[in-house]
Amino acid sequence: MDERSYKLLNPGPVTLTERVRKALSRPDMCHREPEFAALTMDVIARLSAVYPESQKDYVPVLITGSGTAAVEAMLGSLVPKTGKKTLVVANGVYGDRAAAMLKAQGKAYHTVEAKWTEGMDLAATEKALQTGEFGHVVAVHHETTTGRLNDIDSLGKLCVKYNVPLLLDAVSSFAGERIRFAEWNLEACAATANKCLHGVPGIAFVVARASAFEGKETGATSVYLDLFRYRKEQAKGWSPFTQSVHVLYALQEALKELAEAGGWEARHTRYAALSQKVREGLFALGIPTFLEDAQVYGSTLVSYRLPFGVAYEQLHDTLKEDGFIIYAGQGPFQGQIFRIANMGDLTLQDMERVLDSVKGTIKHAAEAASRGTVA
Ligand SMILES: *Cc1c(COP(=O)(O)O)cnc(C)c1O
Repeated sequence: MDERSYKLLNPGPVTLTERVRKALSRPDMCHREPEFAALTMDVIARLSAVYPESQKDYVPVLITGSGTAAVEAMLGSLVPKTGKKTLVVANGVYGDRAAAMLKAQGKAYHTVEAKWTEGMDLAATEKALQTGEFGHVVAVHHETTTGRLNDIDSLGKLCVKYNVPLLLDAVSSFAGERIRFAEWNLEACAATANKCLHGVPGIAFVVARASAFEGKETGATSVYLDLFRYRKEQAKGWSPFTQSVHVLYALQEALKELAEAGGWEARHTRYAALSQKVREGLFALGIPTFLEDAQVYGSTLVSYRLPFGVAYEQLHDTLKEDGFIIYAGQGPFQGQIFRIANMGDLTLQDMERVLDSVKGTIKHAAEAASRGTVA
């Protein structure tokens, strides 16, 4: 079969640069050899350097798996099985997924759920925290369901005020948005190699307060996703289980590329420019953003209303013919919206071609409608 390459506008995995792709063909390596430990230590140091303010008190712990594995390892290892409840602040698929994980782990939790088109319910969150019943807060930084960048500055203030540590799903924001560590009372955040870091899928990580592990025994609910065990061995570069060696090479290269390009802030600026181009172009074509206040979007993904008379499949298939993969709405938003992410190796020219392709689809649909036929 002919393998065609596409520009990926889905929220991970992302379009790789040739430099990162090439790293996958570096030599085979055993994960029990010192060369592997050196590679791991190097990747950990580079990950730590993405947010310099995290370097002193936090450590990245690498695991083989996707972003969900990192979130599950974070909740499974850092939330105790007994004692205080956990407060999940949700307004989308990923908040609900975090609650489902706590449920599967048999841990007591309460969810403060806002409408998915709205911001987190901070008033209800504060009310819950006032009871003193909660030992952790769990939230999602960038809620990929809609593209909203949640107001973690305000949530973090509450976590400081009530002295409750925050566990954050930062899977689609790490290296693309600002993360405040101490100011948010952040105990840990979970992320992955293949979103804003532009690596290959297969490695995820948790950046956790070093003190979360010190002098404590593991209470992890999983043998494989036990952060304590990983942390202990990774302190010297080792891993309890086989690591995804070539994916680690690719992550190392992606981290070098990020640093050379000016770090997360430069990447954020680049994303914002790409996303603004698409947003303005689609607006001119009569396609508004799904969330009314466009200010609430982060830089990595925007959700849009489907144009009148155009089904998602039709838009998706035309864009795919033209070389782009877009993303559907999840849950209740299926058939209502489409999403365009701008992480990965993308240029403003790519985005212009995306806009041309959407324009063509709308024109085709309008012509079909005026002929009284189905496009
Ligand atoms: C993508 C994503 C995940 C899940 O990542 P996988 O790599 O698909 O497991 C979790 N949370 C958020 C916010 C995401 O965007």
